[in-house]
Amino acid sequence: MFAEVIIDIVNQDVDRPFSYRIPDALTGAVSIGSPVLVPFGKGNALRKGYVVSLKEESDLAPEKVKEIDSVVEKGLSVEEQLLSLASYMRHRYGGTLYQCLSVVMPSKSEMRSKKPRFLVFLPEKATLPDEIALALKKKHYAKARLLEAFTDHERIPTSIASDRLSVSSATIRSMEKAGLIGIVEEKGSGIRGEVPEAFSGGSGITLNGEQEEAVKTVLSGEKTTSLIFGVTGSGKTEIYIRLIEEVLKEGREAIVLIPEIALTYQTVMRFYDRFGELVSVVHSRLSQGEKAERFMKAKAGEIRVMIGPRSALFTPFRNLGLIVVDEFHESSYRSDQVPKYDAVDLAVKRGEIAGAKVVLGSASPLVEQYKKALSGEIELIRLTKRAVSGSSLPLVTLVDMREELKNRNRSVFSRALREKILDRQQKGEQIMLFLNRRGYSGAVSCRSCGEAVGCPHCSVSLNYHRNGILKCHICGYERPMVTECPKCGSKLVGTFGLGTEKVEELILREFPGLRVLRMDADTTSGKNGHQEILEKFLREEADVLVGTQMIVKGHDFPKVTLVGILAADLSLFIPDFRSAERTFELLLQAEGRAGRRDTPGECVVQTYNPEHYAVIAAKNQDYEAFYREEIKYRKMLLYPPEGAFLCARVSGKYDDSTALAAERLKKAVESRLSPGLVRFLGPAEDTLKKVKDSYRYCFYVKGKELSDILRAKQIAEEEFERIRGSEKVYLTFES
Ligand code: ADP
Ligand code: ZN
Ligand code: ZN
Repeated sequence: MFAEVIIDIVNQDVDRPFSYRIPDALTGAVSIGSPVLVPFGKGNALRKGYVVSLKEESDLAPEKVKEIDSVVEKGLSVEEQLLSLASYMRHRYGGTLYQCLSVVMPSKSEMRSKKPRFLVFLPEKATLPDEIALALKKKHYAKARLLEAFTDHERIPTSIASDRLSVSSATIRSMEKAGLIGIVEEKGSGIRGEVPEAFSGGSGITLNGEQEEAVKTVLSGEKTTSLIFGVTGSGKTEIYIRLIEEVLKEGREAIVLIPEIALTYQTVMRFYDRFGELVSVVHSRLSQGEKAERFMKAKAGEIRVMIGPRSALFTPFRNLGLIVVDEFHESSYRSDQVPKYDAVDLAVKRGEIAGAKVVLGSASPLVEQYKKALSGEIELIRLTKRAVSGSSLPLVTLVDMREELKNRNRSVFSRALREKILDRQQKGEQIMLFLNRRGYSGAVSCRSCGEAVGCPHCSVSLNYHRNGILKCHICGYERPMVTECPKCGSKLVGTFGLGTEKVEELILREFPGLRVLRMDADTTSGKNGHQEILEKFLREEADVLVGTQMIVKGHDFPKVTLVGILAADLSLFIPDFRSAERTFELLLQAEGRAGRRDTPGECVVQTYNPEHYAVIAAKNQDYEAFYREEIKYRKMLLYPPEGAFLCARVSGKYDDSTALAAERLKKAVESRLSPGLVRFLGPAEDTLKKVKDSYRYCFYVKGKELSDILRAKQIAEEEFERIRGSEKVYLTFES
């Protein structure tokens, strides 16, 4: 075996690896990302390097290949750990090493070491309450938050203002300019001890038996990674908090990954309440400088718990003891930019490298991880009941929309849902209506039987193109637009674009008197858009909240007793092997919003596919049943975890030459792989054919073993260099 090793990152030549032989003694000890010592240069001085890939053979003459000296086991600096993670990332997800390094170690810019600074309220004439009222009136919420904090505290550390209170540095600057506040520097070091009492509270909750057991298993279990599979509201967050306490006591640090900051505000606040100034957040709306500053503090040990989406995973903690990935099934953990990495996978890898425990939590785990848990590769921890006594899971009714149509109900509200809406209106209880509009665009379906017109070669629906052609975005199959349903012959076929906005309109028309709030990408564009809508609904300023998947994520609305899912199938037929899993998870989450307190909740699920296993399992709130069916499907089509696949995407400025490059690349890769190991599909136009003036074509490689797929990826990278010549075409991967 041979290993490709990059030697030195200080050198600009980072993208050029060197081949080394792996001596027998080290077989098994060397893996992708391993830090190794290798002889380098004329003098063969030992240098530290990182393994970026493994090969069966080497292109060099045997006598020219040097051997790896040893694997560096212990005492890796945090930079070395992150570098190791970047090499793994490159191997697994593609991209150049430089791209991977910029994800993992985003900012090289040296931050000046800053003395702690404090904000003080200045004006002598204006009173604080007046200023707060004025800010609120002008809807300057961040400003108002900061001013309110001055009512209890004379001085507020800038770090608290930016983290805990989420006030941007721009706002602070403009308030300073206006003479409202001043910034004072403090001599001496460290803000610890200077932080007002109120900012670090305690958690008064005593864990129940299941929770205690979970904590014990994570901490004392042999396995690095644990999967906490717990129904919604079973108290997972309290478990994370306890685990962090334990880790901090040992002098180590913790990272908590959350899907999206705007939608998990309540959760983030719970961590602040418990750990006060030891906590910070990073997210995409911070400037590079702000992010770098927080990372620096983390490295210096001033911050010891970092919370945030994906990129928080790369916090340079020196002594990382725990990584929590909350709601790890969420698709936002899979990056949509090159390199398209999976943060759940990388979290597990970073845990391995750093010797930290990894906890994955969800009420509907990804089948990939659940399979590992069942097989014992990772620890499985089950939480079976809701933590708050008296609250139970909701009662779910499934409505077959084909029956509604037969009974001449053409409304988007089924008779059952309508009845229950009227009932809640009378009782003055709140309602949530969920419509996942995103998955619908372009698919053609039948209103009589509900069938979406699908591809004969792939299990996805065809997409409608403006020129009247239906196309498969996976294999390229196409046919003319249908005039009648291929299954039942009905002429009621077409693209039925029902969106949240339309639903809002229909509620107002069909249920006069109901007050409606809508939450989707269009209504939440402002900085605090999400929160304003959620808070209004919490204050009961509306009876109905209509929205996309944004409304189903983890929010806790005590007064909601009815949840309506208008079209459970919308996400079922999008061209992605995870569509059934995603549908199940969305339905389960949506159902979980009903009856969070002692009033029992009800949920109505409207569907054209009442016999689909994902819909039935969601109705019964039975993950295991879903898993059993889903894994069969994955096995049949060789999708993860029962197989592996890779999508190679070629993009370029010109349609024809890009298509040609994709075709030639596929042929080249195919010719170099032993037949039978993998299967090829395509190339075909990408789902989004043209993005930012660049044309995209992709082909799929599917196989039983991930190693074969990664080998195909490596070959594709090599061949692409040859094929592209001087053509401006690019290659990226997805898996
Ligand atoms: P999850 O993260 O699993 O959805 P949470 O940790 O948010 O669950 O807990 C749900 C609710 O139950 C919260 O209001 C929380 O304060 C409460 N809770 C959690 N654990 C306990 C406990 N041991 N005793 C009482 N209440 C609890
Ligand atoms: Zn039909
Ligand atoms: Zn197809």
